[in-house]
Amino acid sequence: VAAIAPYLSPGIRAATWLADEGHANPRTITRLLAARAIESGAEVRSHTRLADVGRSASGFQVTLASGEGREQVRADRVLLATGAATMRTGVLFNLHLPVFPAGLTMTATERTAPMIGHLVQHVGRRLSMKQAESGNILIGGGWASRLQRADTGFDLSRPATINPEALRANLKAAADTVPGVAALNIIRSWTGIVALTADQLPLVGAVSRVPGLYVAAGGSGFTLGPTFARLLAAEMAGECGGDGELALFSPDRFDHLNGFMG
Ligand SMILES: Cc1cc2nc3c(=O)[nH]c(=O)nc-3n(C[C@H](O)[C@H](O)[C@H](O)COP(=O)(O)OP(=O)(O)OC[C@H]3O[C@@H](n4cnc5c(N)ncnc54)[C@H](O)[C@@H]3O)c2cc1C
Repeated sequence: VAAIAPYLSPGIRAATWLADEGHANPRTITRLLAARAIESGAEVRSHTRLADVGRSASGFQVTLASGEGREQVRADRVLLATGAATMRTGVLFNLHLPVFPAGLTMTATERTAPMIGHLVQHVGRRLSMKQAESGNILIGGGWASRLQRADTGFDLSRPATINPEALRANLKAAADTVPGVAALNIIRSWTGIVALTADQLPLVGAVSRVPGLYVAAGGSGFTLGPTFARLLAAEMAGECGGDGELALFSPDRFDHLNGFMG
């Protein structure tokens, strides 16, 4: 461990190392993926909401809402990739899709000389650390932030708020694991909302009860999203090899929740 990752605390007695593990900046990658999709013929409508859905003869009559008003679109198939809002978008199809919101926290240190050359995760404590190209060290690992409330549930339109205790514990885990970060200033902490399912596995695949409807929500979506997209796109295009790679994540495992939905 000391030879491969000398920045780790001498208290770390053993580690596993995956040579092709990596990390990427979602703010760069997400825009790049969208640009490539558009180059390949996709039409992207940002700031546009799936507002309503009806059945048409061969698929769905979808209502999209944006600042410019409402628009009807016909679709043979619909994929709900609406993250923590999937429980709400499922309602448009008269479905319970059991996806729940949870708030998480990330923190960035000031820039420093190259120190951490790997994506570091701790097996016994909640911690993930990586150093960006700019030199900032990013610290996270699944520490909670607090969701804001609305009259009818959690308010997904407002950011979760920082939980100081969780933030302190996250930073302590970071400094215990990589003592060099203890001397760095924190420049920013922020929160985001993730989607959890009842069994913590992602919800990815066809919804048999509503032919033509597919879901992709939950799980470590930044890491696994491209794989889900590749497999699901093939399935939606009827190219599925039938090897069942997504079977474990099928939304049909929760079909019993919809048994009484008239
Ligand atoms: C602090 C933090 C750290 C994380 N770290 C990691 C990590 O290290 N590795 C990892 O793999 N994952 C990580 N995640 C999880 C990862 O960010 C998510 O799993 C991923 O973003 C999910 O992508 P998604 O496209 O499924 O959903 P989202 O990114 O939540 O996107 C859903 C989209 O649907 C839109 N939407 C909602 N309702 C509607 C509607 N009615 N009509 C149209 N659009 C709608 C929303 O506006 C949103 O843009 C982290 C998350 C957080 C918050």
